[in-house]
Amino acid sequence: MPPLAPIDGAPDPEGGDCVACGRCCHHPPSTVSLLEADEERLGPEALERWTFVLARPPFFRFVRNDGERCAALDVSEPGRFPCALYATRPEGCRAVEPGSPACLEARRLGHLGASVAFRREP
Ligand code: SF4
Ligand code: SF4
Repeated sequence: MPPLAPIDGAPDPEGGDCVACGRCCHHPPSTVSLLEADEERLGPEALERWTFVLARPPFFRFVRNDGERCAALDVSEPGRFPCALYATRPEGCRAVEPGSPACLEARRLGHLGASVAFRREP
């Protein structure tokens, strides 16, 4: 599946454009790892449905993928990309601020890129 088309311009810093974008939720498998606090917040049912544990030490837990995107990204409505876990999403997802270098790169590429600068410049 080719990456999504690029999106021009900077998004609403409050996240108002995220559901129509979803580019940073397109990434390779084993990209979004979970911290202990994430596991507690999600609870056993959501962990079973949306995450998996790597079969080798140190047994990190990651959000599952569905092809080239996070499995929790709801793509049932064309052009909309709501997160099925939004209220309880992992810290790694919260770290990507709309308008940050990682966000702008994802919008430019159509998927998450190599930038690790998740915060906007103050
Ligand atoms: S790439 Fe940016 S605008 Fe798009 S969903 Fe992610 S944070 Fe929101
Ligand atoms: S859990 Fe939600 S915010 Fe995080 S990558 Fe998946 S769809 Fe995106």
